[in-house]
Parts: sequence; structure tokens; C-alpha cells
Amino acid sequence: MIEISDVLLGPDVEESVLSVLRSGRLTQGPKVSELEAAFASMCGVRHAVAVNNGTTALVAAFRVLDIGPGDEVIVPAFTFVATANAALETGATVRLVDIDSSDFCIDTGAMSEAVTSRTAAVVPVHLFGHPADLGKIAPFAEEQGLRIVEDAAQAHGASFAGRPVGGFGTGCFSFYATKNLAAGEGGIVTTDDDEVAERLRVLRNQGMRVRYEYEVVGNNYRMTDLAAAVVLPQLARYCQQVERRRANARVLAELLHDLPELALPTVAAERTHVWHQYTVRVLASLSRDELADRLREQGVASGVYYPKPLQQYDCYREHPRVIADPTPTADAVASTCLSLPVHAGLTSTDLTEIAAAVRRALRPPRT
Ligand SMILES: *Cc1c(COP(=O)(O)O)cnc(C)c1O
Repeated sequence: MIEISDVLLGPDVEESVLSVLRSGRLTQGPKVSELEAAFASMCGVRHAVAVNNGTTALVAAFRVLDIGPGDEVIVPAFTFVATANAALETGATVRLVDIDSSDFCIDTGAMSEAVTSRTAAVVPVHLFGHPADLGKIAPFAEEQGLRIVEDAAQAHGASFAGRPVGGFGTGCFSFYATKNLAAGEGGIVTTDDDEVAERLRVLRNQGMRVRYEYEVVGNNYRMTDLAAAVVLPQLARYCQQVERRRANARVLAELLHDLPELALPTVAAERTHVWHQYTVRVLASLSRDELADRLREQGVASGVYYPKPLQQYDCYREHPRVIADPTPTADAVASTCLSLPVHAGLTSTDLTEIAAAVRRALRPPRT
């Protein structure tokens, strides 16, 4: 089976984890600090604050920006559910808006129409590793006095106009097992704001700067040194890994571009894509689910990210703090999207097989 994701945990990761085990210090310590420094440097920001997962990164970002009850937060309806869950957990209201079919990210027109006097933040999700249109979002947020909380869980190292994502507001990243950088569980918040960074560090550690001196009502959002030790060696070779993903995406595009049954993913101007997923839209009479089944029969895994916009689930549609705008594009994309393997572990034979399997699935030989 050609899998949809792959983690490369080489001897360098084993060595790194062993050094933590041998040190006897399992919780947040020097490895976390090392990861924070390296990650901040990759994102070109002053601070990175590690936390225990990507959802926590979002919750912590909202909390330190004082977003909570009475505030509205604009979120694309087509995203992983964590984006909305984190905002709801703070007591804020989530306003779901449509996406753009060209990049699967928030539709900036829909975003501007969704602003009310209660809007406190916009949450662009850099979905599949492709940055949202920060060239429109950043000046709009500035003009309207809105915070930007970037959901960059899938977009480590992606950039807009030469600037890495995570530096356009408060950046939230995940190190979940299938992400481009994986710890199993882990997350990190990036910011250029010294005060926001300080508040994040205090919030993450039960509201303490000094032990047992509680300054605010905090929580335990800490990352373990074990998790940081898993990520650090991956970060050191991340540039090459992303180059492999890019090369894989180029090969898939070459092998699939002549199929009118598929709309292939594109990279918008001024953006670099880190190809967390290679997501096509199935325009054939064959349904997306049928294509996925036929690929599986041929040994090729694929993924449906995501099957429905959030407001199509009862728990969000009926939620008193969720407002859903009409999302015709998200509806259409959700019913036709399919992600093909693009990860750095693929060989050129794998890529040829993926493309051949897609072709056979869409155009079965007549018997
Ligand atoms: C993975 C992911 C998250 C949440 O990260 P976890 O580490 O799983 O909590 C949030 N948003 C998006 C878009 C994600 O893909």
C-alpha cells in the first residue's frame, strides 16, 4: 500500500530521544527551548512558544489576545474542526465563511462581508500547506482593527511574498503525527510581540512565572522534552523534505495534467506551498468516493480532507455560538476533494503508480 502520510524517524531521532531519556528530564526543558529557538528562526519571528498540541496552540493564542465571550471570530467553513473548536472553547462566537476554490483557503470577499462590530479576529487556515491570501487579509485586518490568528497547523515553512507564515499575526502550528513535522502530539505558537510571548509562557505554565506565584488563571499547556526531541532532527532536515514534497507535486502534475476529470492544485502568486496534502477535485461522473475506492483496490491510499463544511454537522449547525454564512464553494469542494500521497517518503516508482492507478480508475480499460 502507498500510504497517504509517512514519518521519517531515522537514527537521528532515536539518538535525540535517547538523550532525553538518559537525562532523566522528561517534561519541558532544554529540548523545548532548543525547538522554540529553531522554530522562531525558521518563521522569521522573535518568539515561538511550544505547547502540547496544535488545538492548544489556537486556544492559547485566542486567550492571550483576550478573545472570548461576546467576540466573533471569522473561520473558514472548510477546515479541520480544531480551528472552530479552539475558538468555541474560549467562549467566542465562530462565524463560518466560504473558501476560494483556487486555493481552498478563506475567501477574502466573504471574510470582509462577515465583519460586524463584534468581530475580534480572523483565522486564515493555510490549508494543505498553501498560504491563505495574506496580501489581502493582513491589510484588511489592520484597517479594521482585527487580530490575525493564523492556523498554520499544516503549513510549517510556507511563505507569502517571501515572509514565512506564522509571522503575519499569531501563528499556530501542530506537530501531530501526520503533519509535515511530527512529534505524535505537539504544537507551537509564533509571534513577534514580546508581550504576547510572555503571556503565552505564563498561561502555559499554570499562570506562573515564578513557582507558586499565580499571576493569571492558567493551564498546563506544556510540551515535553521527549516530543521536542522527536521534532528537532526533523526540523534540521526539513528544507530537503519540503523540496521532495515539491518535486513530488511537480511529478504528479506532469503525470495528471491532461486528465480533464481532475482539477489539480495550483500555487497562487507570491506563495510557496509546503504540500502537506496534494488535493485534487474530482470533476468526473465517477464520484470522489468511488475514485478513492478504486485507488485503494490498486494499493494507493488517499484521504478526504474534509468531507463536509463544519455547519453541515448538527453539533455546529445547532450550536448557539456558531453563525454560518452560505458556503457554496466549500460545499462543492467538500464533496469533490481527494488528497493523493505527496509525502517525502515516496519513490519515483510510487509516483508513477499513483498516477497510473488514477488513470485506470477514471478510465477503466474496456473488457
Ligand atoms: C492538525 C490541525 C489542527 C490541530 O492540531 P492538533 O495538534 O491535532 O491539535 C488545527 N488546525 C488544522 C487545520 C489542522 O490540520
